Amino acid sequence: MSTKHPKFIFVVGGVMSSVGKGVSTASIGMILQSRGFRVTAIKADPYINVDAGTMNPTEHGEVFVTEDGDETDQDIGNYERFLNENIYSINYMTTGRVYLEVIQRERNLAYKGKCVEVVPHIPQEIIRRIKLAQQKSDADITVIEVGGTVGEYQNILFLEAARMMKNTNPDDVAFVLVSYLPVPSNLGEMKTKPTQHAVRLLNEVGLQPNFVICRSEKPLDNVRRRKLAEFCSMDEGHIIAAQDVKHIYEVPILFEKEQLSSKMIKQLHLKPRKVDTQKSPLKQLQKLVKTINNAKKTVRIGIVGKYFRTGEFVLADSYISVIEALKHASWHFGRKPELVWLDSEDYERDPKQVKELAEFDGVLIPGGFGSRGVEGKILAIEYIRKHRIPYLGICYGMQLAAIEIARNAADLKGAHTVEIDEHSAHPIIVVNPNQKKNILEEHYGGTMRLGAYDCSLVPGTHARRVYAKNLVSERHRHRYEMNNEYITQLENAGFIVSGVNPQQNLVEMMELKDHPWFVGTQSHPEFLSRPLRPHPLFLGFIEAAIKRKEK
Ligand code: GLN
Repeated sequence: MSTKHPKFIFVVGGVMSSVGKGVSTASIGMILQSRGFRVTAIKADPYINVDAGTMNPTEHGEVFVTEDGDETDQDIGNYERFLNENIYSINYMTTGRVYLEVIQRERNLAYKGKCVEVVPHIPQEIIRRIKLAQQKSDADITVIEVGGTVGEYQNILFLEAARMMKNTNPDDVAFVLVSYLPVPSNLGEMKTKPTQHAVRLLNEVGLQPNFVICRSEKPLDNVRRRKLAEFCSMDEGHIIAAQDVKHIYEVPILFEKEQLSSKMIKQLHLKPRKVDTQKSPLKQLQKLVKTINNAKKTVRIGIVGKYFRTGEFVLADSYISVIEALKHASWHFGRKPELVWLDSEDYERDPKQVKELAEFDGVLIPGGFGSRGVEGKILAIEYIRKHRIPYLGICYGMQLAAIEIARNAADLKGAHTVEIDEHSAHPIIVVNPNQKKNILEEHYGGTMRLGAYDCSLVPGTHARRVYAKNLVSERHRHRYEMNNEYITQLENAGFIVSGVNPQQNLVEMMELKDHPWFVGTQSHPEFLSRPLRPHPLFLGFIEAAIKRKEK
């Protein structure tokens, strides 16, 4: 049955970036879902890039791939993890994507000779996309996160679209401002003025927030709650305290302490629905948070990668889904994951340093591109293979494992991927035949092997055991593939093909004979891991890591 009166909640950020709009949006979605509503979430990003696929991970963070093959913002991953549902391409838009559509339509004479203008045509296209996303998931409530911070030039057209929607259907649209309340250390007092200013900036574009979520290190007190309500023309009950918590999965619980879902249901003129609260996602999350907080024993995982450093800071954002997937699986076993970042370029500078890997219960190499740090990763894999350390290789992590085995176990000197060495004596990893044209013509945006592909699993392998299925589907994002011509030689050196794409006969998964857990996958299983549904491959990996630790 389709929703007659779909409702829309816009989430905008104030004061500064990184106030947690993404997690707030996902958490709002989850608490409303727990009240029996169908919910979907949308991300509107202000940049001109048509998608996140062409951006450097240290610049933008992880590129999250959807089931239908879109390269999106990492917040879409948060929505999927919190809502425990797939979010599709239509739920992600950027300024570039919106303009591209309008300009293309103008070229096709679809505006029938009218002068096409920034306003109203751009906001109209934004609204069209929001409605399409709502219809696709038949959502009762659609939560739209507007990227950027209020007051900047970049996201103004998204806010104008929101204003237009509110103007047409005042009862069906609500606004949430996620703001930050600093406690300057020399004062020791929480300050509300920046948030008041953020609300004024929203007012300037014709918007009044219905809720302000107050992010802060310390809980908001009543004095400041009253002050904000008074100066922002709001109901005190709609000023929501949201002090820092240990885990993002505590945020929905925190919101419900303030009865946010009930207040939103009322604000949107919705009738509360009957639900079995014992079975609601929120209840399950509460149980999980208990497990997380009670976990005492640890499992120590090393992640060998390269997209960590920005200036003096270490940025784990580039691998957020991998980190979350490791956490989900560790929590499943009641363990606290201890994740350590290892820079593969350190091993290139000093190959002896690779011995530090012996201190880990398991090592993971995530996806990657290009030549920087690759030889360091190959050194790490050799050490892991020979010292029987549990290994999970994701995408590049699988390709490099195949190269390592080729070079050092199958005696194929000069084995490489053509991504780095076009004239390799033994091209173990080659261009996917469908990709040749894209590379030649420099068509890089949105042209990789993207989205969900089938993988049929080989009986008797780790993969077949942990998935407990013959045919699975996983999300992909890569241009290169295993070269089938080398399979026999690799097999003679202990390589096992454990998963194959039946349609294109491509190697999807590999493992190693006589090794406790050495598994590589061409896909990105991290995108399918959810807190309440950990991924089988991560479970298998963590299980093996725990076994090593207990030995
Ligand atoms: N660079 C490799 C490829 O394009 C691996 C990509 C990845 O790890 N996501 O095939």
